[in-house]
Amino acid sequence: MKSQDIRSKFLSFFKEKKHSIVPSAPMVLKDDPTLMFVNSGMAPFKEYFLGNAQSKNSRISDSQKCLRVSGKHNDLEEVGYDTYHHTLFEMLGNWSFGDYFKKEAIAWAWELLTEVYGIDKEILYVTVFEGSDDTDNLPMDTEAYDIWKQYIAEDRILKGDKKDNFWEMGEQGPCGPCSEIHVDIRSAEEKAKIPGKDLVNQDHPHVVEIWNLVFMQYNRKANGSLEDLPDKHIDTGMGFERLCMVLQGVQSNYDTDVFIPLIREIETIAKMKYGKVEDVDVAIRVIADHVRAVAFSIADGQLPSNTGAGYVIRRILRRAIRYGFTFLDKKEAFIYRLVDVLSKKMGTAFPELKAQKQLIENVIKEEEQSFLRTLDQGLVLLNRIVEETKGDTVSGEKVFELYDTYGFPIDLTALILSEKELKLDEKGFDAELQKQKNRSRAASEMSTDDWTILFDDAEEEFIGYDTLEANVKLTRYRKVVSKKDGEMYQLVFNITPFYPEGGGQVGDKGYLEDAHGDVIYILNTKKENNVIIHFAKNLPKHIEETFKVVVDSKQRYRTECNHTATHLLHQALREVLGTHVEQKGSAVHSKYLRFDFSHFSKLTVEELRDVENFVNARIAGKLPLIEKRNIPKEEAIADGAMSLFGEKYGDTVRAIRFGQSIELCGGTHVKNTADIWHFKIVSEGAVASGIRRIEAITNDAVKDFYFENNRAYFEMKDLLNNTKEPVKALQSLQEENTSLKKQIELLLKDKAKNIKGELKSELQDVNGIQFLAKKIDLDAGGIKDVAFELGSQFDNLFLLFGAEQNGKALLSCYISKELVASKELNAGQVVRELGKYIQGGGGGQPFFATAGGKNPNGINDALEKAKDYIE
Ligand code: ATP
Ligand code: MG
Repeated sequence: MKSQDIRSKFLSFFKEKKHSIVPSAPMVLKDDPTLMFVNSGMAPFKEYFLGNAQSKNSRISDSQKCLRVSGKHNDLEEVGYDTYHHTLFEMLGNWSFGDYFKKEAIAWAWELLTEVYGIDKEILYVTVFEGSDDTDNLPMDTEAYDIWKQYIAEDRILKGDKKDNFWEMGEQGPCGPCSEIHVDIRSAEEKAKIPGKDLVNQDHPHVVEIWNLVFMQYNRKANGSLEDLPDKHIDTGMGFERLCMVLQGVQSNYDTDVFIPLIREIETIAKMKYGKVEDVDVAIRVIADHVRAVAFSIADGQLPSNTGAGYVIRRILRRAIRYGFTFLDKKEAFIYRLVDVLSKKMGTAFPELKAQKQLIENVIKEEEQSFLRTLDQGLVLLNRIVEETKGDTVSGEKVFELYDTYGFPIDLTALILSEKELKLDEKGFDAELQKQKNRSRAASEMSTDDWTILFDDAEEEFIGYDTLEANVKLTRYRKVVSKKDGEMYQLVFNITPFYPEGGGQVGDKGYLEDAHGDVIYILNTKKENNVIIHFAKNLPKHIEETFKVVVDSKQRYRTECNHTATHLLHQALREVLGTHVEQKGSAVHSKYLRFDFSHFSKLTVEELRDVENFVNARIAGKLPLIEKRNIPKEEAIADGAMSLFGEKYGDTVRAIRFGQSIELCGGTHVKNTADIWHFKIVSEGAVASGIRRIEAITNDAVKDFYFENNRAYFEMKDLLNNTKEPVKALQSLQEENTSLKKQIELLLKDKAKNIKGELKSELQDVNGIQFLAKKIDLDAGGIKDVAFELGSQFDNLFLLFGAEQNGKALLSCYISKELVASKELNAGQVVRELGKYIQGGGGGQPFFATAGGKNPNGINDALEKAKDYIE
């Protein structure tokens, strides 16, 4: 059975069982600080399980893109080495939100596997939770056991402990006992040797878990204790690629039609065969797996970057590049070439791959090229480290620097050193790594208390579209302590006018005042899932009273100008550059706005002017805000709204319209475009291949901008003696400057020639060496010229020159190559050692080296010491 059919059979089976079929949610999470990526099918529905939101349908089924590369579920290091763990995989799932429970979930799973897919019952095992006598003190799941008995022989029902049979999404959140279904796809011969049930959950590649049925009934709180969920739910997850392996009768996920096309393409590009040499096979699996993870992330709007989720994606891609570099000998970019095959294979089930193919290719290619450059540079630096190494062990500290500062991977270093029969001082490296970890842990340490609930008001209403002030009640609060911010309180109200950071727009600031006149400042507002959290340094004194809360209206107004301008800018770019322009990110602050979009070349001055004019025409056009709240996504799209990625099933949207600009947007906006006053682009540049960034300002910031520019202009004019034509005056100054520089150069050359003659006459003979240590008045280039010039006339020369320039000290040492060889002298060593007199350091080659320092007073001391080297 083809993988497409396997997927669609799953969905149609549950459709018949009255499930509503929904598309996969985006893999990158935006509003959830406890989770970076969707790591299981249930993650997008977390709020339904917790009772914070209500699903329209109590039965849902889908195929969800999951990524397990960070946090509680992290399979990254397994990938490539085994044949059934991926970074990105599809999880087929069916859910009941307070509807059916264990009986139906088990019966349907069994029916689907054995009747619809026709899997032989004799290869299946199931597990149930045996209970735990730890602090959670949970009972055995006899209910599930008794249901399974009706379908499968009792010797195939195994009992498992918490590790395998109690499922938790993360450190906190919904959880419950589970029943797993395992398959044994070994040959009859193998089976005769060891019974399958002894291999369940033993990491055997051919006795693997395919489906987990979770009976969701608890919530794990921040303090580690369990509480009952308001309702009981079903959450199941089946690994799609593993199911394909079973149904296609192969022994590895990579031998299914999900991966074969990718592997064939890698074979062609690398001119190597899969299935011959283990190292090569691992590399091919790593690359086939990782390109999927990276491509899907980019399609979801998450580009590789230096922080957060973007950094995780960059690391995955770099892992693939490294394996290609080392084991497939690929020294140029090639992974991007797999995107075509991938989008052909999966573009029907996941249209975002097809739609964004070009961008995905560009971004991956760019990342590859830049990391390969890093590898190249790293190799040069590593060679230098090796050259400087005495003995057979390479300094862990130096290798760590290579890893930390230059991003050169440690495993590659280890491999190269072992090829050169050198040892790496692992203890030293680990010590440095530990130091760095401690530093970053100290910086990010944080403790979060459980919520103190004052009023149980599940839904917190946002009223900030209509008002900036309100009388509110505190419903819950908690204390968070972090190194960065110290002690902070998080406050939640029954209603709030404060806009929480989101959709690129910053969170509101403002204050809270009680009836006694006490004021507490709200420093920021953020959203965690559905809850709007206000950050304050203190807790109000009278927590049970009613407060007045007030949003900082000036900041809000400036932010709104920038947000509305962002929409107009988006429209303008599509109008001026074309409809290939898509939003790739935005940041809307009170002082400026930033907009990232897909486009392949630098904007010309004319294009920038057209874009500015387009936006300013709409500001002058006084377009009113037309807002539609809480409408289904489909309705807004039908109205002509531009659909942005990031919405998941169940989301209603808000459509914002100014003239012909219609966008789905939760942010706040001006009532009329005229409020913006004026729009000005301040910069345009590239952020990644195929992605450009515009920064712009509006309103007061534009006034400041013109004022500052004007002032700079008049100051400049003043400096140019108030000339009528400052540009001309500047041009002639520049010309004058160039010709003066030329003259100085000539004069310096002359001077150097004279100095050379003088210096030659000052050479002393010390132990048969022509020696001179002297302070001279030349720049670094001049000194080098002089030294090399003299050097060409002698083969027994030792020179140390000191010079002072702009308050800094410079030492240059020249030693004839013959002396370097015969007397084991080393100019690099000389300047390094004498560098301490000028409070600096340096290096270079054995015959010529320089050191710079900040203490010119030490030059004479250094010069005096020079003779020691040859005496
Ligand atoms: P395993 O023990 O094999 O890592 P798991 O217990 O972590 O599996 P669950 O969290 O229960 O798995 O996820 C449900 C299903 O998703 C599993 O039964 C399996 O089929 C699939 N699955 C889990 N992790 C991966 C992965 N990294 N790659 C591919 N499929 C996976
Ligand atoms: Mg796992």
